[in-house]
Amino acid sequence: MAIFQLIPYNKRTKRTLHLAKKRARITDPSGYWEDKKMGQYFPFVLQIDVTPRCNLDCLHCRTSHGATGELNSAEWIEILGPIFSHFRRRIQWVVIGGGEPTLYPELGRLISYISRKTRVVLLMTNGVLIATNPPLLEELMAAGLNRLQLSLESPVPEIHDTIRGQGNFYLVMQAAQVCHRLNINLAFRMTLNGLNWPQYGEFITLCKRLGAKEANLRKVIPVGKAEANFSWDCISPQDHCKILTDFPQLGEKHGILVNSEDPYRFIVDPRFQRLASSNSCFLRGCPAGTGHAYISPEGQVRPCSNIPFVLGDLREESFVDIWENHEWMIRLRERNYAKCADCSYKTICGGCRAMAKAYSGDWWGVDPDCWL
Ligand code: SF4
Ligand code: SF4
Repeated sequence: MAIFQLIPYNKRTKRTLHLAKKRARITDPSGYWEDKKMGQYFPFVLQIDVTPRCNLDCLHCRTSHGATGELNSAEWIEILGPIFSHFRRRIQWVVIGGGEPTLYPELGRLISYISRKTRVVLLMTNGVLIATNPPLLEELMAAGLNRLQLSLESPVPEIHDTIRGQGNFYLVMQAAQVCHRLNINLAFRMTLNGLNWPQYGEFITLCKRLGAKEANLRKVIPVGKAEANFSWDCISPQDHCKILTDFPQLGEKHGILVNSEDPYRFIVDPRFQRLASSNSCFLRGCPAGTGHAYISPEGQVRPCSNIPFVLGDLREESFVDIWENHEWMIRLRERNYAKCADCSYKTICGGCRAMAKAYSGDWWGVDPDCWL
């Protein structure tokens, strides 16, 4: 007898499921579906970097530490297929980055495949080719792209251009106009460093003015080229704490979502503090190995885009095996390292392993940004 005959799916069942989902969202403002019955660490967000090539040479570039080759779209589809089909829940976001992903020749074909498997397809771009070749964005949207993130390092053109190259601020403004005209869901991303962090308030105002739905900010991590240009203390832990504390109220004031991938944002936001005592398998804070998976341009699984440590090569190994059994994944989930092991914020923070490595040379050492 088919299973659906054993469970009568009537209006009441539908309503019970709806209320359960609603309750989960209320108790979990991050939007994650907190369901302990699932009991499975799940890559809510999958980031794939499709190329290490770029048309800019930014001061804080992370890719210069890593990849050289790239997969073609058929190889990507072969790798991604088993990942999409393995998990009981649908992977919600696929984030496509680089290098500069618009330089990847088969981007439209890849997006067309991915958009059939996930809810959000986000492209992280420097905007150069969007500004100079607007039909490219139309083509990518027709393939299924539904979100775009533009890098904008400062509301002050000279500071942005110092970080990203002469004349780039103007191109980002042009790219924003193209996005506005084509009505794509737009976000801006600012990597905070010693040159630009005092302007984060004006950055958020400008994002709103340019029609963005989201302003995303994250302190620079000294990996790749950033290692030579910014030290970990280009923003002190105290200023870092103040910036993150400001985000919710700035978002409310300007009517824009102010977001950050920073693990510390959860400990300064009262909405998440209650979750510190939760034993859900969907941890907050550093998402590596819990809600986020990363694949490099050559098809290597790494903990995240800022960690060059290779966990496995998907041309030879299975993603599921790496995700479920690799020692790194287990350590990232247990968070029994350095001072996090005994910290009451362990389940909503965990610090940043890339920052710990940059500071102490030890992936499992203390993150110097921890102000506790
Ligand atoms: S000790 Fe670890 S978990 Fe606690 S606040 Fe610091 S970095 Fe976060
Ligand atoms: S290690 Fe750092 S950069 Fe990587 S996912 Fe965790 S918090 Fe983010």
